[in-house]
Amino acid sequence: MKPETLAVHAGFEFDPATGAVMPPIYQVSTYAQSAPGQHQGYEYSRSDNPTRTPLQLAMAELEHAKHGLVFSSGLAAIDAVTNTLKAGDHVLAGDDLYGGTFRLFSKVTAHRGIDFSYAPLYSEEAVRAAIKPNTKLIWFESPTNPMLRLVDIALVSRVAKEHGILVGVDNTFMSPMLQNPLDLGADIVMHSITKYINGHSDVVMGALCVNDTTLYDRLKFLQNAVGGVPGPMDCFLVLRGIRTLAVRMKQHERGAGAVASFLSGHPKVEATIYPGLLSHPDHALAVKQQRGFGGMMSFYVRGDLAASTRFLSELKLFKLAESLGGVESLIEHPAIMTHASVPAEQRLALGIMDNFIRVSVGIEHEDDLIADLEQALAKV
Ligand code: PLP
Repeated sequence: MKPETLAVHAGFEFDPATGAVMPPIYQVSTYAQSAPGQHQGYEYSRSDNPTRTPLQLAMAELEHAKHGLVFSSGLAAIDAVTNTLKAGDHVLAGDDLYGGTFRLFSKVTAHRGIDFSYAPLYSEEAVRAAIKPNTKLIWFESPTNPMLRLVDIALVSRVAKEHGILVGVDNTFMSPMLQNPLDLGADIVMHSITKYINGHSDVVMGALCVNDTTLYDRLKFLQNAVGGVPGPMDCFLVLRGIRTLAVRMKQHERGAGAVASFLSGHPKVEATIYPGLLSHPDHALAVKQQRGFGGMMSFYVRGDLAASTRFLSELKLFKLAESLGGVESLIEHPAIMTHASVPAEQRLALGIMDNFIRVSVGIEHEDDLIADLEQALAKV
C-alpha cells in the first residue's frame, strides 16, 4: 500500500459493534470481568485501552513494523528504551540531539550507572571509533536537531549488527511518510507524535515501533510497569491527525522548499541549512535515504543576538514557539529555547550560535510565509 493510502486506513477500519468509521473514545479506566481473569482483552487502561490499540496498530503499520507502542510523550518513549539497559551498559548517541533527549540521558539515565558518549555519526570510521566493548545501543536523529545533518541509517545499522548493538532512530523530523528506519536496518524507531504525526499542536505523545517480539514484550512490560501512557481522547486526536499526514507532509515540503530558496538568496541571511538545497552537505544522502526533504530548516541571520531577537520579534505569521510539525509555521531560537539544556561549549561546537534560528514550515501558502520573513528581515 502506498503511504498516502496507509495514512488514511492504518490501524482502524470500522467499529465492529456499531459500524462507526472513526474509533470510539473509550474514556474508561477499568473493565468488568465476567469471572476473575475472564475479560474481553482489556483489564485496566494503563495496560491497554481500546482507543489506544488502533493507534498502536496504526503506528506499527506506518513504520512497517510488527509492533507499535505509544507513550504519554516522546521523552517517555525514549525513557522506556533506556529502561531496557542496565548499569554498566554504554549508549553511543549522536552529538546533535533534541535538548530534552540530551537532558534525559545526561541528567536522569546516567544516574542509573549507564554510560553515555556523544559522537558525530556521519562516517563509518567515526561510528567504529566511538563504539566501546560495552556499547548496547546507538541512538540518533536523522535529520539531526537542529543542525539538520543526516546520519546514514543503513551504514550505522550494518556496523552495529557486527557488534550485536541495537540501533534506535528518532524519526520525528521525517515522519513515517518520508523515512522508515526499520527498512534500513534499525531496530527501534521512535517518534515524538507531538510533532508531524499529530500535526495540530494540541497533543503531547510519543511512540516506539519495533519488529523484534522479545524487545516488544520488554517495552510493553515497561509501558505498563512505568505507566507513562496517553489518555484515550489524545489517542483519538492523533488517529484523526494521522489521516491527513501524507497531504500535510507534501505541503510542508512545498513551503519549506520555497522558504529555503528565499532565505538562501537573501543578503541578511548568512547561511541556510535545508537538506533539499544542493548546497547541503548531505543532500545526496537525503535523496537516497528519504522520500522527501521535510519541513524543517535552520539559518543564520547576519548579525548578533540583537539582530536575531529583533527579527524574531517582528514576525507576524510565524509563531515564536518551541516544537515543530504543526500546521502553523513556528520559529525559534535554539540557544535560548529548545537547546538551552545542551551545555554552552557543546552548542557552540555544533554551530548553535546566537544568530542561529530554526524554522518549522507549516502548511500555509509559501507567498505569505515569505512576505512575513521579508518584512521582518527588513527591520534587522
Ligand atoms: N525528539 C525530537 C526530535 C523532538 O523534537 C522532541 C521534542 O521536541 C522530542 C524527541 C521529545 O518529544 P516530546 O516533547 O513529545 O516528549
